[in-house]
Amino acid sequence: MRNGLYECPSCGNLYKWKKSMLSHLRYQCKQPPRFECTYCPIKNYQKGHILRHLRVHHPHLSPLYFDRKFNTIYRL
Ligand SMILES: [Zn+2]
Ligand SMILES: [Zn+2]
Repeated sequence: MRNGLYECPSCGNLYKWKKSMLSHLRYQCKQPPRFECTYCPIKNYQKGHILRHLRVHHPHLSPLYFDRKFNTIYRL
């Protein structure tokens, strides 16, 4: 929740109601998950999940993840 609005975790669209955001995410937002692991095919809609995945599955590698929204690889 940001500024009293609910943000679609996939495309970043903002909605006044959580219900609207969730129905958008389920029925309208056809984009693939926004965040991707750079070391394996894991993808996720939520940044927190991909960061946790990096720590758990690739603890000896640099924590790099891909953000589809900005088309950029980020370091934790
Ligand atoms: Zn969306
Ligand atoms: Zn991975």
